[in-house]
Formats: sequence, structure tokens, C-alpha cells
Amino acid sequence: MIQHHPAPEILAEYAGGALHAGAMLVVACHLETCAVCRSEVSLWEGVGGALLDETAPEILSHRALEAMMARLDAAEPQSARPSMPDFLKDFDLPAPLKGRTVGRRRRVTPNIWFAPVDVPGEGSVRTYLVYAGRNTVLAEHTHVGREFTHVITGAFTDTGGRYDKGDFACTDETIIHTPGVTGETGCLCLISADAPMRLTGLPARIIQRLTGTLY
Ligand SMILES: [Zn+2]
Repeated sequence: MIQHHPAPEILAEYAGGALHAGAMLVVACHLETCAVCRSEVSLWEGVGGALLDETAPEILSHRALEAMMARLDAAEPQSARPSMPDFLKDFDLPAPLKGRTVGRRRRVTPNIWFAPVDVPGEGSVRTYLVYAGRNTVLAEHTHVGREFTHVITGAFTDTGGRYDKGDFACTDETIIHTPGVTGETGCLCLISADAPMRLTGLPARIIQRLTGTLY
């Protein structure tokens, strides 16, 4: 049962195609499992349609077309579907993710690995998979801008409570946190952040030196 959903303004941004491609992908993965949010996105799309009927159709229709294309790009597996790397073959991956290319897995500890997800038009945006084994706590860190998380499998606990399969989390620079995997199994998440995370403790800074600012 999904407990954590994107805020209404995030769903409105998604409906308008206003999020960067990585964030669109994370929200699309949530929508695949959440009928509640799918219907809310439909409502926002209806609002966009109503605006189209009433004002400057030639400008808005162009924007609406761009928004629609961005959503399709996030939600639809691409026709030449890249094959997923072997380390993901035992996971039940969300359909929107299956259209993406996932890069090389990089372990930061024996229990934690990261793997980049190729999303167009990035810049400072970081979109990646992170897996943490059970009884693992991530290094204390904060963010620049927003970070969206979709739980693919397992569960983690954070300042906002417990996040299970299908749940959505949004954090920003107001939150310093140490998400932890406390369940009986490991946890795989898809994350897209506006910029690399900022590690705050000393061991964490050593890890960041190892990983660079990849994540
Ligand atoms: Zn939802």
C-alpha cells in the first residue's frame, strides 16, 4: 500500500512537462503503481486543456505539445530498448525505467552501490539507481535543490517515516538526513536530484572523494 505520494504541485509540474527529464522519469515510475496520482495528473491535464480552449491557442498548443512529448518521453519505453545490465536482472523494474540505459555499477561500500541512468539534457542533474543492503545507513547528507526518490523494491526509513515499494520521497536543502534500510531485504531506489548530494560527515566526505560528484 503506497503511503507517500508526490505533492500536488509536483504532479501539476509533471502534467505540464515542467520537470527535468530525470524528475519526470521518477514521477512516471510512481504513476505506474499509483492510480490515485494518475487520476490527479489527469485532472491537471484537464485544466491545461481548459486553458487551451479559452486563451491564445497557438502559443499554448505549442507548449502543451512540448509538455505531452516530455511526458511520453518519461513514461514510454523507447523503441530500441536497451538491455539491462546483469546486476539488475533479479529486480522487477518499473516500465518507464526499462527504456533507459543504465551504466556501470559502482560500490561505495560492500553493501551500497550506485549506477547512473542515462537521461537526456542533464547538466547538474544526477539520475541514478542506488541499492543498499539490509541494516545499512547512508552517509549523512543534504541536497542542493530537490531530490525525488521512487522505491523499486524493499523499504527505507528517513525523516519522513518509512518508505516502501512504490512510495515517492522528495527532499531538499532544508533536510539533512541519513536514510537507512531497516527491513529484512535490501532496498533499490531510483533517484533524480537537481545537483549532486552534499555529504556532511567526515567518513562521508571520504566516500565522496572516492565517488567524485557522480551522485
Ligand atoms: Zn501516488
